[in-house]
Amino acid sequence: MKIIIIGAGFSGVSTYLLLRRMLPPPEHTITLYDAHDPRAVRLRSGRDGLASPEEATRDSAATVGNIISLEPPAVRLLRFIDHKLYDTFKARSYVNRHYTLRSARGHTLAVIPTADGKLPAEHTLSCPRFDSWQWLHEHVGYDDSVCYRRATEVDLARGRPVVHFADGSRDDADLVVGADGVRSVVKKALFGHEDESSYGPAFEGFLGVGGFVDMDLPTSVTDLESMVFTFGPAGSFGYCSAAAPEQRRVAWWSNWGSPNAPAGNTVLEASTIKEQLLDRHATWRDAAINDIIQCSSTDRVYPVWTTPDLPHWGQRGSVLLGDAAHTLQATSGSGANQALEDAVVFSLLLSHYMTTSDGARHVPRDVADMASKALYEIRAPRVAELRLRSRNLYVTNKRINSVVLEYLWYLWIFVQTHVSFASKFLSFMC
Ligand SMILES: Cc1cc2nc3c(=O)[nH]c(=O)nc-3n(C[C@H](O)[C@H](O)[C@H](O)COP(=O)(O)OP(=O)(O)OC[C@H]3O[C@@H](n4cnc5c(N)ncnc54)[C@H](O)[C@@H]3O)c2cc1C
Repeated sequence: MKIIIIGAGFSGVSTYLLLRRMLPPPEHTITLYDAHDPRAVRLRSGRDGLASPEEATRDSAATVGNIISLEPPAVRLLRFIDHKLYDTFKARSYVNRHYTLRSARGHTLAVIPTADGKLPAEHTLSCPRFDSWQWLHEHVGYDDSVCYRRATEVDLARGRPVVHFADGSRDDADLVVGADGVRSVVKKALFGHEDESSYGPAFEGFLGVGGFVDMDLPTSVTDLESMVFTFGPAGSFGYCSAAAPEQRRVAWWSNWGSPNAPAGNTVLEASTIKEQLLDRHATWRDAAINDIIQCSSTDRVYPVWTTPDLPHWGQRGSVLLGDAAHTLQATSGSGANQALEDAVVFSLLLSHYMTTSDGARHVPRDVADMASKALYEIRAPRVAELRLRSRNLYVTNKRINSVVLEYLWYLWIFVQTHVSFASKFLSFMC
């Protein structure tokens, strides 16, 4: 089988590593394409023009993303995908043993262990999104394993999918894997004839700012080795360590409700963003929040969006994985986890159908379609549930002006977190 993977993020690199092992050459060929070479990327930080990635990751969640958190199931999948990749993530990330949920008034609403009781024991890892992307590329290797070309169009109308690239070249395959993120060209080939609102990103009613600051890790992080989430009448504020403790690198994010859906990221004066942060959070009881705001200098506001549930994740020799199939809210912290789950499930399904299907009756493209269909049946309900769970934590996108309603909201968060923790605990015990 000839396979093209578009996108070398979590889903694309994992699928590449797994399929290379499960469907080895020369019978099978797998080519991985990505639009961006991390060695050449110079990211825009603030309005000062181009800056080094290192500078940009310090400061601008809106352009390069903020923290990626990998929960225990995803960490175990990393180990299954590739031991060395797992070692890299473990060594360079912060290991969070707890999630602490607080109210703006200083109550601890929940302290939830990140370990899920399964073996091998793992905890939630946190690292900058941009760094994780670099590690994935580093791991695959810069020895021509990734072809750095931007796919512009995928033609699924013929017997064999054809991919067209920005440099005028083209490639064809039995299977095209769309691991190319939220603006996927493969998704466009599958659904582009429909109204974009049926498959494109949809605003969730929340905006966010965030970034990284260099400072001593707050004791609320180090005491329990915790990610800290605080909820209040004007939104929410989260922070955690973004790297191994000696690096003193704190990631932070603030989300609040908004009726308006901006077209994309909004650039403001950094001082304006700081004023808005202080307006929302200055009276909150956690002193670390104020310290972080004082050190922050981001100038971008980003919208929180998701993509709607799709009727399928691939046909006619194509499959969508990760964000291309389902973009979850940034506030869910689940995007990378779900991308890894897709990659593993799809790779296992494809290699299973390749070895069990009747070659006389099934051409490779049909086998790929069987795997895409099974992937959707297994994974789509789980993703839909995660989207709903994330929405439930952010029950209102309006500023709460009544103390009674504020306390009712804290009660809601308390119940939500304890019910889901209790049900996890019970299913573990059974
Ligand atoms: C700007 C941004 C910020 C984010 N911030 C956070 C965050 O703070 N926390 C969090 O948990 N999640 C965040 N996410 C989501 C998280 O990064 C994803 O859920 C996760 O990385 C999904 O992995 P993926 O492999 O499906 O897609 P991605 O990681 O998006 O990877 C897609 C890959 O495809 C490549 N690509 C895209 N288009 C093309 C093309 N036409 N041709 C060739 N290659 C292409 C890209 O260069 C990229 O390498 C963010 C996503 C974005 C886009």
